[in-house]
Amino acid sequence: MSTLIDNIGLLVTNETDRPERENAALVIDDGHVAWVGDAGSGPDADERIDADGRCIIPGFVDSHSHIVFAGDRSDEFEARMTGQKYAAGGIRRTVGLTRQATDAELAANTARLVAEMRAQGTTTIEIKSGYGLTTVDEARALAIAKTFTAETTFLGAHVVPAEFADDPAGYVALVTGEMLEACAPHAKWIDVFCDVGAFDVDQARVILDAGMARGLGARMHGAQLGPSGAVRLAVELGAASVDHCTFLTDEDVDALAGSDTVATLLPGVEFSTRQPYPDARRLIDAGVTVALACDCNPGSSFTSSMPFCMAVAVRDMRFSPAEALWAATAGGAAALRRTDIGGLAIGQRADLVILDAPSYVHLAYRPGVPLVQRVIAAP
Ligand SMILES: [Zn+2]
Repeated sequence: MSTLIDNIGLLVTNETDRPERENAALVIDDGHVAWVGDAGSGPDADERIDADGRCIIPGFVDSHSHIVFAGDRSDEFEARMTGQKYAAGGIRRTVGLTRQATDAELAANTARLVAEMRAQGTTTIEIKSGYGLTTVDEARALAIAKTFTAETTFLGAHVVPAEFADDPAGYVALVTGEMLEACAPHAKWIDVFCDVGAFDVDQARVILDAGMARGLGARMHGAQLGPSGAVRLAVELGAASVDHCTFLTDEDVDALAGSDTVATLLPGVEFSTRQPYPDARRLIDAGVTVALACDCNPGSSFTSSMPFCMAVAVRDMRFSPAEALWAATAGGAAALRRTDIGGLAIGQRADLVILDAPSYVHLAYRPGVPLVQRVIAAP
């Protein structure tokens, strides 16, 4: 089955030498991009779509989400907006509700959020565990996540659960032992929340080392709540991504710039917790590979919208619209170490979004407006 999409006003392929084309056409064959060229000059195909001058972009790659959970924390958001500060402890509240939920309830909530993301143009998602924090509950979260994506991440080291409050070393032993054994078959990645109130750098090293020894790739939550050695540890261990990067030292930026560890920025968190945004220009100008992701979760960032995150990145973090789109597509792909997604070059997956707009600039120019006309994704 092949499809010719003709009369594309602006096509973003993210190819290095020519990332954008005006008046373009594209052919999809068997779920992959088979041809790219000028409008009106495409080869015959089984099906033809007239884009009527609209802009087509690669599907968004949301490389950071926590969407297997139960419950609602809108009351915490309301409290923060009226003057209270975000603390990592709120995670434990979702843990309690998630443990009580049935498999069917968790799967239904996840499916609803995945559908929300898809409707807003996201074609690849990463999903973390981290609201179970027992061997059984972490493994079932990952088994559910795996029914929605291949990009599943074991985050048993999200916080120390209440029952281990007096024995954090015992919890690290559980995470790196029995829990890892049960979760690794369902996970591609291992992640750790290395920050004030969560796990310190020494614990994070032990946890990531154990996961890598079990064949998982490393990722990290770091420098969200304060500066630490988290970012340099992520780079040292060859992590695919270190996420948040709100509080960075010069040494952190230098380490990232000289590495293939992606800095994934999550502006929904700063928006929803009223924290200062990360200094994105410092990272981009230093040559660091930067991704944007939603961090969809019920506590600190309950948005599933990549266009919203792009709009905040442009308005408040001084990304150019082109940089924000790249970070939300190719940047996310780099954060997942994927070359088959995040762009529309020949041979890549034909995961794309037809925007009801002549340019992707409208994603930030018209914040909050549903501009996704159609999403096409490879099976
Ligand atoms: Zn997160």
